[in-house]
Amino acid sequence: MRTPLVAGNWKMHGRLDMARELAARIAAGAPHGVELALCPPYPYLGVLQQTLTGTPVALGAQNLAEQAEGAFTGEVAGEMLAEFGCRYVLVGHSERRSLYGETDAVVATKFQRAQAAGLVPVLCLGESQAEREAGQTDSVVGRQLDAVLETAGVAAFHQAVIAYEPVWAIGTGLTASPEQAQAVHAFIRQRLARQDAGVAAATRVLYGGSVKADNAASLLAEPDIDGGLIGGASLDADSFLAICQVASL
Ligand code: PEP
Repeated sequence: MRTPLVAGNWKMHGRLDMARELAARIAAGAPHGVELALCPPYPYLGVLQQTLTGTPVALGAQNLAEQAEGAFTGEVAGEMLAEFGCRYVLVGHSERRSLYGETDAVVATKFQRAQAAGLVPVLCLGESQAEREAGQTDSVVGRQLDAVLETAGVAAFHQAVIAYEPVWAIGTGLTASPEQAQAVHAFIRQRLARQDAGVAAATRVLYGGSVKADNAASLLAEPDIDGGLIGGASLDADSFLAICQVASL
């Protein structure tokens, strides 16, 4: 049985007061039967660690450095995130891949670096609109997943989460239909199962891409969708909690 996880990716939105209030409201309203995580901007991790300690809401970060330590101006090491109470870290979000040039190899290194720091990587996979239209969804998602499987090995997924996020659905208001999402989630699970059926059955695969309270139920009803990675709707406590409520049922 996979306990659903709903994670909020705040990206670079809000300010400190909003972060504090949003986290407190989400923690106060967190339903049972679902795990919650919030991924605020780096500078707010310390304050949110205090706000969320003792609550059912876990803390996560949106990125981590490829390296463990050293002269890497502007970067943040996984160990530093762990010191601030992070349990999760997003790895390979499409904005990191497309805007900051993170290759499959970089993402695979970050995945391993996260685990070495004791963090649970949330590995983001997804195809662009053009790739979908060209019928390349499975090959793109498979290639992104294989890069991590080849580097880290299938057993590493005992301590990892996958998020399928079609690039064309992120922040656009377009959502994959439940059937489209389920097909890719099943493909991801089969890809894991080729190497380890137990890992495939246990790994949580979240869906992300314009998930809102009103479309969450149909997506989360699919057998291979184990929760959500939520961008825009996680910036509003009521919307995020409504999605969590659906996931808890
Ligand atoms: C995301 O940021 O990963 C995301 C899925 O955003 P949104 O929910 O706004 O599409």
